[in-house]
Amino acid sequence: VNVDANDKEELDRAYKLAVDAHSEQRRKSGEPYIFHPIAVAKISAEEIGLGATSIISALLHDVVEDTPITSAQIHEQFGKTIGKIVDGLTKLDSAYNANSPQAENFKKILRTLVEDVRVVLVKMADRLHNMRTLGAMPMHKQMKIAAETSFLYAPLAHRLGLYAFKTEYLDLCMKVTDREAYSEIAKKLAATKRDREAYIEAFITPLKERLDQIGVPYKIFGRPKSIYSIWNKIKSKGVTFEEIYDLFAVRIVLELPMKSPMSDEKMVCWRAYSIVTDVHTPIPERIKDWITTPKSNGYESLHTTVIGPKGRYVEVQIRTERMDQIAEKGFAAHWKYKGVSTDGNDVYDKWLNSVREILDAPNMDAVEFLGEFKENHLFNEEVFVYTPNGDMKILPKGATALDFAFSIHSDVGYRCTAVKVNNKLVPLSAKLKNGDQVTVVTSPKQKPSESWLKMVVTGKAKSKIKSSMKEEKRKVGEIGMEAMKRKLKNLKVQYEESMETLIAYFKYESYVDLFYDIATDKFQIAQIAKHFNVEAGKLVPKGKEEENTTPKQTHDHLTPHQQEVKTAENTKLLINGEPGEKYTYSFANCCNPVQGDPIFAFLTISSGLKIHRSSCPNSTNLMANYGYRIMTAEWVNTANASFVAHLTIKGVDKGKIGRAH
Ligand code: MN
Repeated sequence: VNVDANDKEELDRAYKLAVDAHSEQRRKSGEPYIFHPIAVAKISAEEIGLGATSIISALLHDVVEDTPITSAQIHEQFGKTIGKIVDGLTKLDSAYNANSPQAENFKKILRTLVEDVRVVLVKMADRLHNMRTLGAMPMHKQMKIAAETSFLYAPLAHRLGLYAFKTEYLDLCMKVTDREAYSEIAKKLAATKRDREAYIEAFITPLKERLDQIGVPYKIFGRPKSIYSIWNKIKSKGVTFEEIYDLFAVRIVLELPMKSPMSDEKMVCWRAYSIVTDVHTPIPERIKDWITTPKSNGYESLHTTVIGPKGRYVEVQIRTERMDQIAEKGFAAHWKYKGVSTDGNDVYDKWLNSVREILDAPNMDAVEFLGEFKENHLFNEEVFVYTPNGDMKILPKGATALDFAFSIHSDVGYRCTAVKVNNKLVPLSAKLKNGDQVTVVTSPKQKPSESWLKMVVTGKAKSKIKSSMKEEKRKVGEIGMEAMKRKLKNLKVQYEESMETLIAYFKYESYVDLFYDIATDKFQIAQIAKHFNVEAGKLVPKGKEEENTTPKQTHDHLTPHQQEVKTAENTKLLINGEPGEKYTYSFANCCNPVQGDPIFAFLTISSGLKIHRSSCPNSTNLMANYGYRIMTAEWVNTANASFVAHLTIKGVDKGKIGRAH
């Protein structure tokens, strides 16, 4: 790290203050607390490449939260910038202690992110160190932290271009949620290491000779893929570890001087590509040129897959030193080489602006917000399109002509009758491509319809259409409402109560929906008499009179039933350390846990506690969003318990043997 005398003095002061402030504290593992901020500062410097300001903030990141030192003291001693970053980090931490739904917390993280990205970068380092030292925590905390990490921090790291962080996060999460699979793959990787290295050597050797001739220093090496990504492949492709050939990728990093012109970088990379494909046969459709068009998170690299010795497919990544730095350290490195632009045309500026926009969107509750954010701003990349004046608009990939109209202004969206892309009329649902020039034709008579919802992907367009639909529906439905009121009056039944019965019976979401269907002839009022009898001023479904009298099951499972604890013999599992029978619980259908699986209990709204496997595909979502509804669960060791299990049996059809022809 480049530090001047001033920085050094400040770093010293920060270090002393942190050591002093944390002197009484210890971590869960028993080691002195100060090890943690020091480790976070180290990660910020070495693994993200952040500067003095961030390193000082990292050293101080837990001081305000955990010690008597106040935010005002930090501001006073270290100035406004560091003070603000530490405030941001403190706020993020206290958000997590709150018992509020995680979606709210995530929104807070993003707010801080758009204010000063350094807060989130230091937070990433903090999270990484916590994940690396997770083993000292009790299991249910490990699960919760792992869930948050894979749900938000890993995708965020990806979006910020911190690929190394993302990979390590996901590996560490897997170590918690699928310890067995993790250690099995780790073991196999270690066992096959020698073979792999020999293979890489055989692949690389003929390349080296030719690469030397370019006259640019370079590194070439094989990198094993992460345990998580191997595991993912095993699951998604249904193959075994032994069947995966591309357990590694070969990377060529060309060490051009840092400030070389872009054209030189590109040319050198393509020369290397040409050498690789002269030596090994390329697979034509497997080339990806992210140098000419970088990914929207800043990633630049040239990828190709070739056929190596023994006919095995090998992925080769070609890039310069600068590109490699950006690929590993993302935003921070990008910042260092290009500087933070102020013209708003930088890839990160654009992304941050789009995040700001959804943060400011009104009427979006936190869970909806998170869905929209994950959908459109974390994973998907963007398309860049233009207005007729040449102004650029960025929309999520998959956005349609109609999305574009709404992105200009909601009124333009409402009144949109046609869209021209590159001067040709296209359907409103046409997906936009990079570089499209889009013109919207409007008419004051136009208004949104239900079918529009299927034509848009952006949250903004969706919520605008929905609210306009509601208003429209309400207006149209007024006739339906009048008709319904008359009908119920004629039947001599009470209005509110009967409406509730009807809504539930015909499965409508609201009164408005039902009125609308009456007004538009989708629902015949005569149906009421067909399906219901009137008894004592009430609507009673025909043929269901008896069932109706049985009381509904109560949905009050929020507190454990205060029953006597049954004998330990019947106890199958412990929930929250207590015999399971004290609670209403059942096993989740999605993962069917069986005796011995690591499990947890999740408090559902309407059906008590559900027991899931720790490795259940739904668990990440449940824990990240509803961490406060998670309870620990464990099996009581009974060797002869019986259970229902799903078995997948795979067989190989051996042809004629045993077959009737
Ligand atoms: Mn911390």
